[in-house]
Amino acid sequence: MRVCVVGTGYVGLVLGSGLAHSGNDVLCVDTDDDKIAALGRGEVPIHEPGLNELVAEGLADGRLRFGTDLAEGVRFGDIVFICVGTPPLPDGRADLSAVWAVGEVIGREMNWFKMIVTKSTVPVGTAARLREIIAQYARHRFEVISNPEFLKEGNAVNDFLKPDRIVIGTDSEHAQEVLTELYAPFQLTSDRMIFMDTVSAELTKYAANAFLATKISFVNEMAILADRLGADVAAVRRALGADARIGPKFLFPGVGYGGSCFPKDVRALLHTAEEVGYELRIVRAADEVNCAQPEFLLNQVSAHFEHSLQGVPVAVWGLAFKPNTDDIREAPALRIMDWLLEQGAVVSACDPVANEPTAARYGDRVAFHHSPYEAATGARAVILVTEWHQFRTVDFTRLHDLMAEAAIFDGRNIYFPERLARSGFTVYSIGRPVARPAAPPLPPSPA
Ligand code: NAD
Repeated sequence: MRVCVVGTGYVGLVLGSGLAHSGNDVLCVDTDDDKIAALGRGEVPIHEPGLNELVAEGLADGRLRFGTDLAEGVRFGDIVFICVGTPPLPDGRADLSAVWAVGEVIGREMNWFKMIVTKSTVPVGTAARLREIIAQYARHRFEVISNPEFLKEGNAVNDFLKPDRIVIGTDSEHAQEVLTELYAPFQLTSDRMIFMDTVSAELTKYAANAFLATKISFVNEMAILADRLGADVAAVRRALGADARIGPKFLFPGVGYGGSCFPKDVRALLHTAEEVGYELRIVRAADEVNCAQPEFLLNQVSAHFEHSLQGVPVAVWGLAFKPNTDDIREAPALRIMDWLLEQGAVVSACDPVANEPTAARYGDRVAFHHSPYEAATGARAVILVTEWHQFRTVDFTRLHDLMAEAAIFDGRNIYFPERLARSGFTVYSIGRPVARPAAPPLPPSPA
């Protein structure tokens, strides 16, 4: 099939290269000239495992092309996927200006029947409004279908090639048939298609993200309660997750969720509900808990240094909002570093792939390192924010020798506190008892 993908971010680039991989002719269009030029040279501007290979394969086969001319893309594609960003407006609603702008060009430029598919996360009612916008200009028949994307950054290629489910919102049998054929190569072992109306498909995406966000905020509240009660949330979490009705995923206490999806989608859903006169109390609480969650760790840091961080060297490990991505949008590490700088701390940082985008925000106010040991040299505390594998297996003897004071604030509960305490560290976690180094043995009493 001939496919046009509009927007070459995490979603569009994975979709476009994935569809080229399965044999379609794909033209990816974006307004960002530099990005498109780089992609044309095979340079992928984001870190996503497996994506470089997929893009290189598509370019080499000639099935994947990149351009900046949306009109050409619209004329080329039988199917036009809209994958543009829908960032939050200051009041939390989704900014749909890019979706509407693309819709207008589609209406003006369509040269025969088109299937227009929204993959961006868009509020309920967007497909209906998009139909109206396109219809103002269109001289040919068209269908607007909702096909929300569920990929996880850091595992996006794998999620695309082996999806848990493919949600299609349409009442058109023709659209169902065409999209079933398009997605057939990705569901060889079982049928993953779930068909529904467009409104339900739009709501499904927000409901999924709001549920996952709620699960994280729930366990984060349990962690704070465990701390107050002297319980160990790690044990509670394991036992909770062993219940098949609950499941172990998204039950890891930490410094809160971030990224380009959960925070914005939760707030956009709250607005959607408000617009129809309903307050989503659970979802609002999940958002509030998440906004407050980094304070738990920051209070620990503050108390440890007796509320005076002026001139205290602190290393932050992990900047991306989660491992395996370079995405720092709404990353908890930013909130933590902002606070440390406000307090006058001397901040060094280390992330396997997100140093560069973070440096663009902080400049020389933060010293960036590729090695966690370099970042921690001379530091009086390490704050672990993102649980990259590199930070799990650390030579703690070496680390202890490099640091000026051996304090670790484990913002993701990845370390074994008692073991580290035996190596001389003081370890703070999220909802686990603080572990302190054993006191040195008393000198023998004088005879
Ligand atoms: P992104 O910011 O990485 O990419 C968006 C791209 O769209 C950018 O390259 C931008 O230049 C381009 N763009 C903006 N306006 C355009 C226009 N008028 N014409 C052509 N291109 C335009 O965003 P993303 O992370 O890929 O997310 C895209 C959408 O998918 C959002 O609605 C997001 O909520 C949703 N989504 C994202 C993820 C994720 O994990 N990133 C997962 C599921 C759904």
